[in-house]
Amino acid sequence: MSYSVYKRVSFPKKKRIALVAHDSRKKDMLEWVKFNRESLTRHELFATGTTGSILARELKLDISLFKSGPLGGDQQIGARIADNKIDVVIFLWDPLMAHPHEPDIHALQRIATVYNIVLACNRSSADFAISSPLMDGEYENLVMDYESERIRQAETMLK
Ligand code: PGA
Repeated sequence: MSYSVYKRVSFPKKKRIALVAHDSRKKDMLEWVKFNRESLTRHELFATGTTGSILARELKLDISLFKSGPLGGDQQIGARIADNKIDVVIFLWDPLMAHPHEPDIHALQRIATVYNIVLACNRSSADFAISSPLMDGEYENLVMDYESERIRQAETMLK
């Protein structure tokens, strides 16, 4: 199936960035945020509960907290993405460990793809994302218009 129609959704100059780190990657996240603090504080920061509490405590950052990931935090971020209220997710996840909230992790990665937001799942991608000149201006995000396609599909089934 091909989707040829796009919707334009702009990312504001001040990006809404969500930070999520699995337990084995929290130290990495702390180091990464510390290193990129100056760039990050030009934006609006969000995080899942435990990741965010550690960052706020250790780095005295102004950061809005969702629930802890396994308690619904990943889903809260996903819902915000669907409402065009998160532009970037830095998700340092652990690929060698099974997690009780595996479906939520998968759902977050999927919805980030559906809405074509920036999704960095490892440190090098996070480095490239945060150092992009695109981070400092408005950006016109072309989101595939799956919605019209869904309606069209459903309509054909009514016939
Ligand atoms: P946490 O959640 O920041 O509350 O640990 C992260 C996750 O596992 O999704």
